[in-house]
Amino acid sequence: MSKVIISPLYDSEVFKMACRQFDQAADAISLPEAIRDRTKWPRRCLAVSLPVKMDNGTVTIFEGYRVQHSISTGPSKGGIRFHENVTIGEVAALAMWMSWKCSLLGLPYGGAKGGVIVNPRDLSPNELEHLSRRYMQEMINFVGPQLDIPAPDLGTNEQIMGWMMDTYSNHVGYIAPAVVTGKPLSLGGSQGRREATGAGVAYLVKAYLQDLNIPINTATVAIQGFGNVGSETAAALAAYGAKIIAISDYTGAIHNPAGIDIANAQEYLRYARVLKDFHGGEPITNEQLLELDCTVLIPAALERVITADNAPRLRCRLLAEAANGPTTPEADRIIDQRGDIELIPDVLCNSGGVVVSYFEWLQNLQNFYWSRDEVLTKLFAMLDRAKASVETQRKKFQFNRRLAALTLGIARVADAKQSRGLFP
Ligand code: GLU
Repeated sequence: MSKVIISPLYDSEVFKMACRQFDQAADAISLPEAIRDRTKWPRRCLAVSLPVKMDNGTVTIFEGYRVQHSISTGPSKGGIRFHENVTIGEVAALAMWMSWKCSLLGLPYGGAKGGVIVNPRDLSPNELEHLSRRYMQEMINFVGPQLDIPAPDLGTNEQIMGWMMDTYSNHVGYIAPAVVTGKPLSLGGSQGRREATGAGVAYLVKAYLQDLNIPINTATVAIQGFGNVGSETAAALAAYGAKIIAISDYTGAIHNPAGIDIANAQEYLRYARVLKDFHGGEPITNEQLLELDCTVLIPAALERVITADNAPRLRCRLLAEAANGPTTPEADRIIDQRGDIELIPDVLCNSGGVVVSYFEWLQNLQNFYWSRDEVLTKLFAMLDRAKASVETQRKKFQFNRRLAALTLGIARVADAKQSRGLFP
């Protein structure tokens, strides 16, 4: 019988949620006790203080984390989040989900995640660069192309990945593009990486609508979050012919039953920086957006927004989790009981990002670069395969779709650990 010493380190609602999901999946596949805690618990974490000289001459200390959940199947992989509410428990939960996501997609990676407690909008470009470089400097011995490979997440972007790659390369003394993915194209970024997560979400939404016999040009879509993932998902779904009836960011939501012009909204955002006062529809709240009558609801921002409180009032046919962990286990149960909503779980739904990150890493290691068409064709083929395996697992064991995806992801990691054995 294995025993895990639970430290208060990760204690948080979101970490408990990731653990509950794991426990349910482990129970469902009767994962042996001896391998259970090894598979569940994050392998290691690093917490760092990041002193940054601000433009006014003062020094501010930021706090940063990196959690490597699993390194049994390859280097660990996952984004870095810059957000004021980051906690080490949240980063650990996100790292755990990266493990199941990479495993489900058959990528040769374990899961990781990083985070810095900061609102990047409060920093000047100069301060943001110093913070990003200092974060990478503190991580030097913890990351690397064969060790742990960061990428963008909420609040970080291509430019930040570029600075981090440059910092790491300066340290080792040669250019090391494979240490980070989601880089600018000029630094070894991949064609299609910027839009990959959104393109993948839209592709899977289209495929699931097809399974439901709903023509995509009759579908209405509400999307919470208009960052990289939300806006690219909106653009891709609009291009497929769906009508985007609501979008939002942290300043509020816009609703227009006649359809929102997504190119217009993206253009507006480029100079206004927030959606507030965008005239493409009526202003509503983020909470109201989630309860709109629509074909597809897409949370594409933070975790735990679909709860026991609003789950009974959802009015969508398909719930596509572009965010990581947007639905609480209590809400999952309600959605199951209702039986009228199909759910595409996060680890499948938003996996396009890390899949193209994998392609970017491969291209960097080979110094051989692919066309955008090649990237997207390979991405869609991998999503088709993962979707098919989730559907097979679902039918075989009468699981809901989250349980099907998580059991597949978890079983492969547990299998690898068992095959490697326990050293020493
Ligand atoms: N941050 C993204 C995610 O949550 C992408 C991670 C990556 O590309 O490594 O999946």
